[in-house]
Amino acid sequence: MVKKILASLVLLIGLVGCSSQKWYKGNTHVHTLLCGHADSSPEAVTAWYHERGYNFLCLSEHNQFIDPATVTMPADLRDDFILIPSEEVTGGNQAHSTALNIDGVVDPRLVQPSGASKTQVIQAHVHGAEQQHGHLILNHPNFHYSNTAKDIRPVEGLHLFELHNGHPSVNNFGDDEHDSVEEIWDDLLTDGMLIYGVSSDDAHHFQKLGPEHSNPGRGWVMVQADSLTPDAISEAMYRGDFYATSGVMLSKASIDGRRISVVVDEGATEGELSSSFVVGHVTAEGAEGVSIQFIGPKGRVLEAVEGAKASYLVSNEHGYVRAKVTYSRKGENGYENFYAWMQPVFTDGRTHFVK
Ligand SMILES: [Zn+2]
Ligand SMILES: [Zn+2]
Repeated sequence: MVKKILASLVLLIGLVGCSSQKWYKGNTHVHTLLCGHADSSPEAVTAWYHERGYNFLCLSEHNQFIDPATVTMPADLRDDFILIPSEEVTGGNQAHSTALNIDGVVDPRLVQPSGASKTQVIQAHVHGAEQQHGHLILNHPNFHYSNTAKDIRPVEGLHLFELHNGHPSVNNFGDDEHDSVEEIWDDLLTDGMLIYGVSSDDAHHFQKLGPEHSNPGRGWVMVQADSLTPDAISEAMYRGDFYATSGVMLSKASIDGRRISVVVDEGATEGELSSSFVVGHVTAEGAEGVSIQFIGPKGRVLEAVEGAKASYLVSNEHGYVRAKVTYSRKGENGYENFYAWMQPVFTDGRTHFVK
C-alpha cells in the first residue's frame, strides 16, 4: 500500500513537473536604428517579432543597453511576449557577444581590453555579463573567422555560443580553409567544454528583403521553461534546456536520463518553411525529406535515421552525444537544408552548476 501511494506520488510529481514546462520561441540577437547601421526603431523591431508569434526578444545593440522599460510595446501586446534586457558586447573583430538578461550596460573597459588576446577579450565579456547579473552568448565566431576553437576553449564560464546566425556575412558553414561553426562546436565538446549552441537571426534590415540583406526570421531558439520571465528564460538557456533552429520545429525534444528522443513537428516546420524569411543552407548533393543524426565526439555520426522520429540511448563509450535534424527540399540551385540542433547529453559528469 505504502509503495502504491509512493508510486502515485512520484507519478503525480512527474506529471506536475511536465505540465509546468512550456516551450517558448525567441530571438537573442537583433539590431535597431540606435546602432547606426540598422533600419528600424526598437518599437518597430519589437512589433515584427510580436506579430509573428515569438515569445521573447533581446534587443542586443552594439555596446548600448536598451532598457525594455523605455520601449513602447505594441498596443495589442500579448501576455506571452517579453523583452529580455540585453546588449551585444562588441569588441571590434575579435569578439561580439550577447550579454543576456543584464541589469545595465556592460563596463566599457571590458569590451576590448587593450593588448588582450582573443581568449582574453571573450573572457572579459563573460565577466562583463556576470557583473551585470547576466549570462554570455559568444556570437558568430566565424564572422571574419575571428574565433577558432583554440581561442574559445580556454575561456572560463562560457557555456553558450552562436552555432547559427542568420546574417549573410557570418560564414556558418565555413569554407575550404575554415571549419564550420558546427565543427568548432564538436571540437569544443570533444575537448571537454560544456557549451550549448544557440541560433539567432542578428537582423539589421526590416525594410529591404532579400538574401543579401540581414533580415529577421532566419534563426531562433525554442526554450523549455517554467514561466516566461527574463530570469526563467535566461536560466533555462544556461542549463541547456532549449534547441536551436534555422526552421525545423520539434514536437518532442526530450532527454530522459540518457535517452534522447526527437519528433519533428512536420506541420509547424512546413509552416515556418513556407515563410519568405527562412534561408536554407544550399548544398549540391542531398536527398529530400527529414533525417535525424546522433552525433558524438569529433563530430562522428553514431546513428542516422530517415524520417521524423528517432530516439537514442547514450552509452558511457561517448563523452557526449547530440541530435541534429535536417529537413531538405529541392531548390533552384540544389538542395536547401534547414536544421534543428538539440543540446548534447554528457556522460562524463561535466557540469557548470555548483553541487
Ligand atoms: Zn555581432
Ligand atoms: Zn549583431
